Amino acid sequence: MSYRYCPACATPLQLLTRDEDGGPKERMRCPACDWTHWNNPTPVLAAVIELADRGGQILLARNAAWSGRMFALITGFMEAGETPEEGITREVAEETALEVLSLDLIGVYDFQRMNQVIIAYHVVAHGEVSLSPELAEYRLFAPDELRCWRAGTGYALADWLTARGHVPQFIDLPPRAA
Ligand SMILES: [Zn+2]
Repeated sequence: MSYRYCPACATPLQLLTRDEDGGPKERMRCPACDWTHWNNPTPVLAAVIELADRGGQILLARNAAWSGRMFALITGFMEAGETPEEGITREVAEETALEVLSLDLIGVYDFQRMNQVIIAYHVVAHGEVSLSPELAEYRLFAPDELRCWRAGTGYALADWLTARGHVPQFIDLPPRAA
């Protein structure tokens, strides 16, 4: 997210250096009221969904906005007023209609390209899958069939596989279109 104008007083922002706890730092700041665009990473919740009623298969889904045939974890932004556990339970329900039976934290991962921090859970769920319009299709995978990608949620999937005694297999994705 980039700002051109101060959201507090509408003055054009400038790259200005100020002394911060870590020393002088150049950031987009407001020359009139000193508002600072900190540009902190946004928390994103992610779920490795294990289907308790489908022999422990893992659900990955393809986002309708993606061009390639890439399947990934269910993800969503955390909302104000909820815990991470409440947030991932809500996201799983909204995006797949599945009911969450249990949650375990896999880990926390940086995703610097999108300025996000990923909070990844192993989610055991059950029920009938009904995708939100954001998702084009889903596939179920046995753990040994999963392929991990070298970015935030892919490392979460790899760590979950390793913890379950599997050796994660990585794939390299084609370069992203501009
Ligand atoms: Zn201002």
